Amino acid sequence: MRLKDRIALITGASSGIGRAIALRFAGEGAHIVINHFGQQAQAKNVCERIAAHGVRALNIEADVSQVAEVGRMVDAAVNHFGRIDICVNNAGVQREVPFLEVTEDDWELMTKVDLKGAFFVAQACARDMVKRRRGKIINISSVHQEIAKPRFAPYCAAKGGLGMLTKTLAMELAEYKINVNGIAPGAIATPMNEDVLEDPEAKASVCREIPWGRFGRPAEVAALAAWLASDEADYVTGATYFIDGGLTQQVVEYRSPHGG
Ligand code: NAD
Repeated sequence: MRLKDRIALITGASSGIGRAIALRFAGEGAHIVINHFGQQAQAKNVCERIAAHGVRALNIEADVSQVAEVGRMVDAAVNHFGRIDICVNNAGVQREVPFLEVTEDDWELMTKVDLKGAFFVAQACARDMVKRRRGKIINISSVHQEIAKPRFAPYCAAKGGLGMLTKTLAMELAEYKINVNGIAPGAIATPMNEDVLEDPEAKASVCREIPWGRFGRPAEVAALAAWLASDEADYVTGATYFIDGGLTQQVVEYRSPHGG
């Protein structure tokens, strides 16, 4: 029970990695604020499963890309639980679009949810955490904060920005003993990848690129998040942990668009 009676706010907790983190944190004794956007039934289901751990859950729908909604969500969470100890910026979206065809709408969607959202959720939570001079902020980034992914330029730009946000906030919040760390997952089996997971050839092709030979499980990311959220990681700040089955450690042969 490494998180007993901590209050954790997790964005995008109705699905995939966020859901797994919510369930793992609940298993570690934390009370959870489940944020989601347009996934009421899934969020309700996560809340029910959390309650089975004997901890409390609060379900708040809010679009993290809207600063006013972020403020309303964090105020509601603090009013309900009295404080926020742990903030996990997990909500994210990605769209595959060739760079030459990216629209303003594509750019805005990915940068506003994946980067602006994390920025203002972290700010609102940190404004509460500084009062106790203690807190944990965990940003769920991506291996694509470091390695390029053609046809995903806005997503890569947003995650690259999130990686630098993690480092900068870690420096700025150190005086308040608020830890800020990142998790950069590789290919994880979640609804975000359902097109690939449902296509055996596409799935096998992705697995061939991963030294571990398989997709990661949401629960594996959640285990890392639970450690980062715990007292055991008190001296860890400004770090981003890659959890990718070795994906980013290999030398991949560059496939030139010019052939040869
Ligand atoms: P998912 O699609 O299963 O979950 C995304 C969650 O974000 C959902 O709960 C959704 O409701 C929420 N969300 C979307 N837009 C929102 C908004 N405007 N406001 C609030 N919530 C919103 O995907 P996932 O794979 O679990 O992704 C979780 C995080 O992990 C994302 O940040 C994603 O970029 C990152 N990630 C995933 C993978 C992977 O392979 N699945 C790899 C690297 C990084």
